[in-house]
Amino acid sequence: MKVLKFGGSSLADAKRYLNVQKIVAEAHQQSGAAVVLSAPKGVTNALSLLVEQAAEGQDYLELLAKLKMTLTGIVADLDNSIDGFNTEYLNTFIEQKLSELEHQLAGIKLLRCSPDPVTAQILSLGEYVSVNIFSQMLSAVSQSNKLIEPATYVVAEGDYLDSLADMDASIEEFKHLKYSDDDVLIMPGFVAHNAGGEKVTLGRNGSDYSAAILAACLKADCCEIWTDVDGVYNADPNQVEGAVLLDKLTYQEAMELSYFGAKVLHPKTIGPIAQHHIPCLIKNTLNPVAPGTLISNESSEIWTSVKGISHLENLTMFNVAGPGLKGMVGMASRIFKVISNANISIVLITQSSSEYSISFCIHSKDAQRAQALLNQEFELELVNQLLEPIEMRDDLAIISLVGDGMRKHQGLAARFFSSLSQARVNIVAIAQGSSERSISAVIESRKAKEAVKVVHQNFFSDMHTIDAFLVGCGTVGGELLKQIAKQQELLLKRNIRLRVYGIANSKHLLLDAAGIDLNDDWKARLVESEQRFSIQGLQQFVQTNSLVNPVVIDCTTSHVIAEQYIEIMLAGFHVVTPNKKSNTSSMAFYNSLRETALATNRQFLYETTVGAGLPVIENLQKLIYAGDKLSRFEGILSGSLSFIFGKLEEGLSLSEATKVARQNGFTEPDPRDDLSGMDVARKLLIMAREAGIKMELKDIEIESVLPDYFDSTGSIDEFMQKLPQLDKAFQDKVANAAKDGQVLRYVGQIADGKCRVFIDKVDSSQPLYVIKDGENALAIYSHYYQPLPFVIRGYGAGAAVTAAGVFADVMRTLPWKQEL
Ligand code: ADP
Ligand code: ASP
Ligand code: MG
Repeated sequence: MKVLKFGGSSLADAKRYLNVQKIVAEAHQQSGAAVVLSAPKGVTNALSLLVEQAAEGQDYLELLAKLKMTLTGIVADLDNSIDGFNTEYLNTFIEQKLSELEHQLAGIKLLRCSPDPVTAQILSLGEYVSVNIFSQMLSAVSQSNKLIEPATYVVAEGDYLDSLADMDASIEEFKHLKYSDDDVLIMPGFVAHNAGGEKVTLGRNGSDYSAAILAACLKADCCEIWTDVDGVYNADPNQVEGAVLLDKLTYQEAMELSYFGAKVLHPKTIGPIAQHHIPCLIKNTLNPVAPGTLISNESSEIWTSVKGISHLENLTMFNVAGPGLKGMVGMASRIFKVISNANISIVLITQSSSEYSISFCIHSKDAQRAQALLNQEFELELVNQLLEPIEMRDDLAIISLVGDGMRKHQGLAARFFSSLSQARVNIVAIAQGSSERSISAVIESRKAKEAVKVVHQNFFSDMHTIDAFLVGCGTVGGELLKQIAKQQELLLKRNIRLRVYGIANSKHLLLDAAGIDLNDDWKARLVESEQRFSIQGLQQFVQTNSLVNPVVIDCTTSHVIAEQYIEIMLAGFHVVTPNKKSNTSSMAFYNSLRETALATNRQFLYETTVGAGLPVIENLQKLIYAGDKLSRFEGILSGSLSFIFGKLEEGLSLSEATKVARQNGFTEPDPRDDLSGMDVARKLLIMAREAGIKMELKDIEIESVLPDYFDSTGSIDEFMQKLPQLDKAFQDKVANAAKDGQVLRYVGQIADGKCRVFIDKVDSSQPLYVIKDGENALAIYSHYYQPLPFVIRGYGAGAAVTAAGVFADVMRTLPWKQEL
């Protein structure tokens, strides 16, 4: 005989009941079936809420009416599908049960509390309705069946709402059960009775446990748990994209996984089936052909080390500490005795080796009670300061790594903890089972989902993610999006999932939890969006969607966003930017940015602030790391001025050259930003600071292309109209230089600890002579590179190269790229 258990997820509506009937019919034909049923989906939750509402004196009638609709709705739908279905019987049954319930709720409302025996009765209502429906379904097709009343056969002890089966007593009771081999046995899950004959429940989600009890009592060949997923995965498949189905688990592995939160199986289930060596198969009602996961004594040959990750939420940790604990025999036992006497289960314990503190986690619902009991038990020690006030910390979760083979593998714990640190998860406590079958970390609840995802990524998947948020979608930002759209598929083939989840400009913010389709009209969607950029908004989004590697890409030139980088990193984002404003703000801010990046384990990447896509910062950093020292630097750092000065020597006037540069998109939107020398000065400052020179923007000596006597105020158009006033002076300068075989170049220089930006005259023997047409050239003279400099040369402006540089920085936020 087989025991088949169907959970609420398999009994959500009439269609699902019919599906279950089909599965049972097949199983019964093959080997004889005993069926354990849960309440229809959501019914136990509704009953629990009804009790709560009544106990708080609230109005519960609306919810009661809804519950009635759900139950009678299933019956009515089945009536339409099955000939000879006894709807009347069921409606009377439901009517009678709900009327009892209404009386009980009225009493609870009056008392303002629900005694546990009453709550147990109420909570089990759904299971009874469920088995009666199913029994009528079988009867309608003339399938003989027999209802088993667990309140007669299943003996349990302990809490009314979380009882533990007395297996020996239950097996004895079942010896009295009479049935024929033709009968399909049907038992409501979740219910048992205690020694006093009162109805009790086996704890929420406890129908799995009922199935295991029944399987043991009937000496079944197999216990099948039918649910809404294909089996046990290495992480909750509804939370972790890419979770992998496990073929086999040992009883112990299944126990640890479920104990630490894998809801697919109630942890108590394993006891009876392991004891009686009954194999257990987890199957999917919605996909019966899938082989499922086998839980038995056999281990998997495919998965030999870590099997899975689970997490448990709503926990509270207590810390009992103080000098009184040291060496005092029996303190630990007193703590645990108090807790266990109150029927509070301890989920995890850690003790510091100095014996100075003991920490343990319990379910938060029991926290207030535990606190009061501990304070009472240790009143004397607390008064005499042998113990420190007992600490209690709420909103915690436990994340656990489980697998029999873990004890044979080294480095798993290290990988586990480094994954958590990658997700910036603060570890509150650590515990490892003595069997070395599991490692657990206590963490903050709000980080639990993210933590599971990252740990899963590091243990089971080669897939790495980058979760991008772009601020500023003008020339460079727009180009970057195009490049990302083009590369996404290719990256995915290399196991990198780069998704853009947010795009913002100064007025709107577009967020999409599925990732923005960059081939679609995101511009229109952005304009329609009523949200605006805010760090809190993004942080909330990241949290809700459990994103593990969020990056803010600032493609604005705004100092407003740049000033927020510290907050952005503190909120958990890496920062990638071509925006020069943050690195050229005060030295104090510059230092705080780096300190924050270090402290928050976030990347702050700005390669494109100097030389656009050219690898300037990276190489400079590498030299400095290797102990090199900058002695002198000279370079053409502005693509637009490289272009304009090149055109001057070809005979164009300053105003014409500027106009052409502007038309080709080589200049900033306002060409004065280039011509004033400010842009070059900022780049020079970034380089100087990178080389370890402490200075401010104001310390840089700037010779502007626009002389002091020239009035450069007004609109861009007005400025462009006035610019020809300078043509003559520049023509003369160019001609003078040409007489000596020289050309004019706009140069940034670091020498003797000073920075200068100026118009230089260079001859053909100098490297900068040939640099024009938008090219950049940077000559770095250092201890290692002398007398010949380290030279970097190439296009230093333009949306495509800059965006490609930003893209490269974005890729460096991948954990395995960070060492680069
Ligand atoms: P039922 O109503 O059938 O008892 P549950 O909702 O109690 O179903 O359990 C099934 C759910 O367990 C799945 O939908 C899944 O979201 C969750 N779950 C959590 N961890 C795991 C895991 N490791 N493998 C499979 N499912 C899991
Ligand atoms: N119906 C009960 C619950 O929801 C038992 C179960 O479904 O396992 O907790
Ligand atoms: Mg369940």
